[in-house]
Amino acid sequence: AGRTGPAPIRRLDQEVVNRIAAGEVIQRPSSALKELIENSLDAGAAAINVVIKDGGLKMIQITDNGHGIRPADLPILCERHTTSKLKEFEDLQSISTLGFRGEALASITFVAHLSVVTMTAGQTHGYKATYKDGVLEGEPKACAAVKGTQITVENLFYNVTARRKAFKNVGEEYSRILDVISRFAVHNEGVSFSCKKHGENRADIHTLAASSRSENIRSVYGSSVARELIPIETSDDDPARSRFKMGGCISSANYSAKKTIMVLFINNRLVDCSPLKKACEAVYAAILPKASKPFLYMSITLPPEDVDVNVHPTKREVSFLNQEALIEAIQKAVEQKLLESNTSRTYYTQS
Ligand code: ADP
Ligand code: MG
Repeated sequence: AGRTGPAPIRRLDQEVVNRIAAGEVIQRPSSALKELIENSLDAGAAAINVVIKDGGLKMIQITDNGHGIRPADLPILCERHTTSKLKEFEDLQSISTLGFRGEALASITFVAHLSVVTMTAGQTHGYKATYKDGVLEGEPKACAAVKGTQITVENLFYNVTARRKAFKNVGEEYSRILDVISRFAVHNEGVSFSCKKHGENRADIHTLAASSRSENIRSVYGSSVARELIPIETSDDDPARSRFKMGGCISSANYSAKKTIMVLFINNRLVDCSPLKKACEAVYAAILPKASKPFLYMSITLPPEDVDVNVHPTKREVSFLNQEALIEAIQKAVEQKLLESNTSRTYYTQS
């Protein structure tokens, strides 16, 4: 069949559609966790604790002390496109929450088993609910709880054999999970983060709500980075060029690593921007010994109307106006900082 003419076009089953869409949002355990952390931050959590089994494939459990979920909302919590954040399309322009599409929890339930324990302020007990394929299974059950939300995701990709098979190395998935939490921990001062493997006592990441950003960087990336950081700040406010504010810190010429670490947030969203990373690396390449790479943390604020957050299912990429001008301005600032710090040093041995 199909050799003599085109195959007929058929409408896919909703279940197939949902599973395909879910695979785009939830590419691997760390992308599921990123969505869950964003939800906890959106809920105003000051403590976010994560427990992982088998690189997240067996289990991802996240517990927060945010505002919780109203019992009345539990029946539709995991349906596609149900959200407490966005109402009108126009709101996207000014959206201040990290989530907005009501897609994350739904997507997870199409490729994993998901259960929730949650309690809002002023309640005497919480509720536990489990979901499959977007649908609440049975009734929410009353249970003991504290204010906040705990979400447990089990058996990720149990129904997507090809995807599950692609994750042979649970150690690598765990590293990716630690990488995501590290970034959020550095950026979100005032929120404590922890992460450990199920069954272990020692946490692999543990930051405190009262810690400063540089203490967080020390705790997560080590003191060799933390003691070589230079604060950096720059901005532009010319609509014809670019409008932004940037604050952060960058490693001095004394520090070098094998791989660049660039922790980048744009309007509080964890993103990647390879042109910006390359531009910064180029500055260091001219100053550092060969093949040494920097550490950079930058938080960029742009006028919301200049950013499109909805360009990619994982939201890991954003597009914004005047990207080239912004990159050039930041590159200049990095160069200036590095040169300053280089000449102010008492001795410097060129290798
Ligand atoms: P979105 O974040 O885009 O709204 P999600 O599927 O991630 O969509 O979450 C759906 C809704 O569930 C959220 O809008 C929020 O109301 C609620 N929710 C999810 N996680 C939490 C949490 N940890 N604490 C409180 N509410 C939550
Ligand atoms: Mg969300």
